Amino acid sequence: MSASSTKFRVNIITNRCKECGICIGVCPTKVLVKGDKHNEHGFRYPLPVNIERCIGCRLCEYNCPDFAIFVEVVKK
Ligand code: SF4
Ligand code: SF4
Repeated sequence: MSASSTKFRVNIITNRCKECGICIGVCPTKVLVKGDKHNEHGFRYPLPVNIERCIGCRLCEYNCPDFAIFVEVVKK
């Protein structure tokens, strides 16, 4: 799943997520929150509900141990 602001898109490969919560903790602007839906392995993946706050720092992407989240610049 993914969410976009006018500048950045945060993509979550839901079935890779192991619900560690690291991305939620490292995001400086609190874009990500714990989700309530489970992936096919039973883990609840995060949701980028506050996507308009994303500054594109990619700390979520760099810190995810399972390569489950990545950030793109939205092309105009
Ligand atoms: S790129 Fe930075 S600001 Fe955007 S969701 Fe990831 S950690 Fe948060
Ligand atoms: S850091 Fe990766 S594995 Fe951990 S909750 Fe976030 S997306 Fe899931």
